[in-house]
Amino acid sequence: MSGEGSMQIKTKIKSCVICGFNENSNGFLGLDILCKCIKCGMVYTNIDWKEEIIRTDKDSWWQEFYHFSVERSKESLEQLCIIKKYKTEGDLLDYGCGGGNFLALAKKEGFAVTGIEIDENVANIVRNDLQINVKVSTIYQISFPEKKFDIVTLWNVLEHCPKPNLVISELKKILKKDGYLFIEVPNDSSVNRLFAIWLNKIGIRNFLNQIYVKTAHIAGHVNHFNIKTLSKIIENNDMRVVKIIQRDSPIGLISETFNKDQKIPLWLMRLLMLMVNLIGKMARRKSRIVIICQNNF
Ligand SMILES: [Zn+2]
Repeated sequence: MSGEGSMQIKTKIKSCVICGFNENSNGFLGLDILCKCIKCGMVYTNIDWKEEIIRTDKDSWWQEFYHFSVERSKESLEQLCIIKKYKTEGDLLDYGCGGGNFLALAKKEGFAVTGIEIDENVANIVRNDLQINVKVSTIYQISFPEKKFDIVTLWNVLEHCPKPNLVISELKKILKKDGYLFIEVPNDSSVNRLFAIWLNKIGIRNFLNQIYVKTAHIAGHVNHFNIKTLSKIIENNDMRVVKIIQRDSPIGLISETFNKDQKIPLWLMRLLMLMVNLIGKMARRKSRIVIICQNNF
């Protein structure tokens, strides 16, 4: 006999954002919001987002801190150094260019730069202050000629895209043959993240809620990639993985993120994060992944 009490509520599970498989393990890490694909291992948010890109909340406390910091500029410089190992000139598109920090630097170094940004106000600032061509659009609406770009970059953007496969396949169309695609995302298998999961397990802090649930709504992170799943999405789109690099997140940013409520002195948190980064380096599990891919078709 089955009464109301034994009736099971069937949660609708979103099929895998990478491989499309739809018998995924829902409630991963004990969070209803998370799915982990049992076929390819992809971890993603179980929400049917209506938007094409989930933006960072404008009122988010770290937004200003991050986007206009010295660390952000340092980061752009490091990203440009990676590109210059493969290409030193050409047409470059930055998808999700934000405040244009990276594009300004690439322009200065001689690249012909274009940006795509969904926030009109931010795009206007980049156009007016930096004299950079920015289109307010998502990749689904934009119409560039096919095979226009030598380089396409996505710096910490793909984790905000509910349909990452579609983004990559659209960007591939506008990339020249032998052109390069550079993607950076947070590493879900990093020591940083494992450290947070461990702290959560021993009951010190509810970090899982912070890194998976809050980031979905505040930072707009809906996909959680590791090297395997990020490579998979490239291979799915018939592109060649040239190299995979791992990088540290800026110490300032992660210290502030982990210590939002300032329960620990900032200097101590920075020291702790330096140690976590060091362990990440030794374990080859740093907090970000950069994948360098080439369009061979
Ligand atoms: Zn999958």
